[in-house]
Amino acid sequence: MKNRDNSASGPDKKLSLEKTARKAGALVFGVADPDQFTAAPVGRRPRDLLPGAKSVIVIGGAKPRAGDWASPKFEHMELSSTNDRITAIAMKLSHTIEREFGYYAVTTPPGVDEGQQPFLSMSLAAELAGCGTRSLAGTILSPDHGFVYLAVVITTLPLPFDKPLDKPVCPAKPCIDMYEETGRTPCTAVCDASSGGCLSGKIENGQWQDRYYDAARCTARVYNHWIPSFQKILADSLDEPDKETRRMKVNSGLFTRTLWSMTYANISQGQCFECIRVCPVDAETRKLGK
Ligand code: SF4
Ligand code: SF4
Repeated sequence: MKNRDNSASGPDKKLSLEKTARKAGALVFGVADPDQFTAAPVGRRPRDLLPGAKSVIVIGGAKPRAGDWASPKFEHMELSSTNDRITAIAMKLSHTIEREFGYYAVTTPPGVDEGQQPFLSMSLAAELAGCGTRSLAGTILSPDHGFVYLAVVITTLPLPFDKPLDKPVCPAKPCIDMYEETGRTPCTAVCDASSGGCLSGKIENGQWQDRYYDAARCTARVYNHWIPSFQKILADSLDEPDKETRRMKVNSGLFTRTLWSMTYANISQGQCFECIRVCPVDAETRKLGK
């Protein structure tokens, strides 16, 4: 592809892309080095999606609003994912890179590839780009904004890289204090692995030393709607010999909510949010004056 703009340097182009992303609503922005994705399996690295990739841009934002966190009806978040907003900003960056700078750019699809595997681990990309670190349950926490949805653009445009953060965001100071008093953190208290939940761990010297996250149990809890639920109910309904029962299943509240979640959220919530709801990292941004 022809390079249409040789005037701006790498740092200038990075600044211009960051400005575009932030103006569109991104809260975090960083660039990772494609050579650093050695922890990702072969086939799921940046150059597997875009040969010749020189930079991996990570943006984050579109998090639930303060009102969403204040709502006791947590189910509403399953039907109103805001993830698509951050993906739209990534699309805008890809467009700018190709049209203004003349380099190839691919917005990493937010869905999954074969084997239910992501095309590229956005969490790994976010860590390498210094946008945050993993929480106990695996979601990325930005030090300033806590939980954010992520989107990634892989491009042949060379940009200056950012570095991973020096200090993990999780466990936060209030969590360390709570652990010292009670042996639990806010998230392990709401989803305790020893009593049917998914999380546990030991904190030593202010860091998780022995962390545990039951991903299978968490997934089973989270995916009560959306595509996996649709597949289950569809198979069940097709196997149902009684016409009236079949009709009942297809018109059930569960199936209806499943269809709503699929059509109104571009991707399933990766979390039931209960561990994130109590996370103190961005507690201040979830409170309004009145
Ligand atoms: S997302 Fe829900 S089920 Fe999964 S670890 Fe957090 S609180 Fe537990
Ligand atoms: S509440 Fe948040 S910061 Fe604290 S341990 Fe859990 S995920 Fe980490």
